[in-house]
Amino acid sequence: MVTDAQLAYATQLRDGGDTIAEITDKTGLTRSTLYRHLPTRPAETLTAETITAEEKASPSRISVTPSSAAGPLACPTCGYQPTTPRDLVSHRADLATVWLHLDDRGEPHEARHCARCQPHGHVLVTNCSRCGDGPLVTGSPGEDLLEPILNWLEGHGWTTLPELVCGQHNR
Ligand SMILES: [Zn+2]
Ligand SMILES: [Zn+2]
Repeated sequence: MVTDAQLAYATQLRDGGDTIAEITDKTGLTRSTLYRHLPTRPAETLTAETITAEEKASPSRISVTPSSAAGPLACPTCGYQPTTPRDLVSHRADLATVWLHLDDRGEPHEARHCARCQPHGHVLVTNCSRCGDGPLVTGSPGEDLLEPILNWLEGHGWTTLPELVCGQHNR
């Protein structure tokens, strides 16, 4: 049985900065009794409520928007999601690379690939002469940059003459 005097003493100890362990020692009350009867500090109450609210909110958020359940890190082409932190780093780098697929008419189509779905055929690499970055072109019959590719680059801020320079480095 917990008396008011015990609780008052416990509250006094807690307000004085005693830990729960120290209070149980001094009052003889059990830990669960203290948690049940001792008014919680405002800060602790707030934290507990915030955590509970988040735990309640997240499942419903996911169910409301099922399309986002795949996550922003999923490969847009095959849907693969990295499962380890190390995997994640290379996955991000892979997805940062722009691929240009030339269709039958020679029109480039922009795509992103993770390591799992990257094309393994002939790849033509375009390089910004300043930073070395550039889209990887597949479906090109040769080593030359075709007109549609040059047009695509220029449409994305590149300078193609006299050399290839990306949008970030051409001024
Ligand atoms: Zn993929
Ligand atoms: Zn560049």
